[in-house]
Amino acid sequence: MSQDSIKSNINQLQRKLGEDVTLVAVSKTKPKEMILEAYDAGHRDFGENKAQELTAKAEELPADIRWHMIGHLQRNKVKYIAPFVHLIHAVDSDRLLKEINKQATKNNRVIKCLFQVYIADEESKFGWSPDELLEYFDSGAIKEYPNVEVVGLMGMATFTSDMDKVREEFLSLQSLFEKIRDNYTYSNLLMKTLSIGMTNDYEVAIKCGGNMVRIGTAVFGARDNH
Ligand SMILES: *Cc1c(COP(=O)(O)O)cnc(C)c1O
Repeated sequence: MSQDSIKSNINQLQRKLGEDVTLVAVSKTKPKEMILEAYDAGHRDFGENKAQELTAKAEELPADIRWHMIGHLQRNKVKYIAPFVHLIHAVDSDRLLKEINKQATKNNRVIKCLFQVYIADEESKFGWSPDELLEYFDSGAIKEYPNVEVVGLMGMATFTSDMDKVREEFLSLQSLFEKIRDNYTYSNLLMKTLSIGMTNDYEVAIKCGGNMVRIGTAVFGARDNH
């Protein structure tokens, strides 16, 4: 994909998404030159799914980029991204949240997080079930972690062309989002972000209340190793 088209892809997507939806440009496997092209077009939110790649790119690219960790995060990798990460999308356990809080404290900052909820049919996807997550909020465990701020939920729909199925999954997540927002009050819980939607399903996602989309292919072109 030529670099000019990165700019126009971003502009087109942003027009479609509107001002209220944050586009996270997913740059995994893509070189820093392509990220800079998007940066020069004014884009600042980029997503990576591996802590090492995220850290390496952050070291070489402008400091005002907002880096989103969108993939499964191992606890022993949190320390590498804790000094600078903007938002961690895929918190899937209390143990991970505890480690994020620990590393955030060491860095004297508050790290924003989303809880990943399992909504797809597929075995491989990480995350909480809706019931587990509600139980977790009932427990009040997040009060122990003042250096994390939970700002919403993230989910991935089943990989299918059946958009009715995708819509059903996204709507179930939206209703869980509203339930949590309306029923729990903790000082470090501020439900405002619903991160759903990728290249193939973002149009459905924003109709289901998604206000953050994570888009790679439609910005940077297909990935080789995918
Ligand atoms: C790769 C990835 C995306 C982007 O996928 P595209 O289909 O290329 O838009 C979004 N979310 C997560 C968690 C990813 O790993």
